[in-house]
Amino acid sequence: PARKDCPADVETLGRSTWTLLHTIAATYPPKPTPVEQNNIRDFFRLFSKLYPCWVCAEDFQAYMKKEAIKTESRDAFGNWLCDAHNEVNRKLGKPIFDCSKWEERWRTGWKDGSCD
Ligand code: FAD
Repeated sequence: PARKDCPADVETLGRSTWTLLHTIAATYPPKPTPVEQNNIRDFFRLFSKLYPCWVCAEDFQAYMKKEAIKTESRDAFGNWLCDAHNEVNRKLGKPIFDCSKWEERWRTGWKDGSCD
């Protein structure tokens, strides 16, 4: 819909949610403490149950059973999340994102300075 003040559809919800999730990865510590690692695990365990698109949540829970979350570093977590997003891209027939670029997209900005 053209109006912005309407309930979020699956696309708007998805875009906003990926922005939040990848930005959490961007601000996750390079060397997280055990508590920080537990926090991210707890967050994703609950997120995968509460995400308000139920087919999406079901598939995401199944993905997390198959590919356990990696929390030992920002690099490991960011790449795990990028792979998880690519699994959804594959399912929806969207282009696969080059995960070597996830930090440029979500943390540092592009190397050509176009985000500065
Ligand atoms: P999005 O996929 O929302 O991506 C936003 C931006 O992220 C892109 O423009 C790109 O710059 C960047 N990006 C793309 N891929 C990656 C990547 N792999 N790593 C890092 N950055 C990347 N929709 C459904 O119809 N069915 C589902 O089952 C479904 N499951 C979902 C599960 C989850 C957990 C989430 C958060 C969303 C899900 N969605 C689902 C929504 C779907 O993934 C998209 O968000 C939505 O279709 C809008 O797509 P988009 O083309 O705007 O880009």
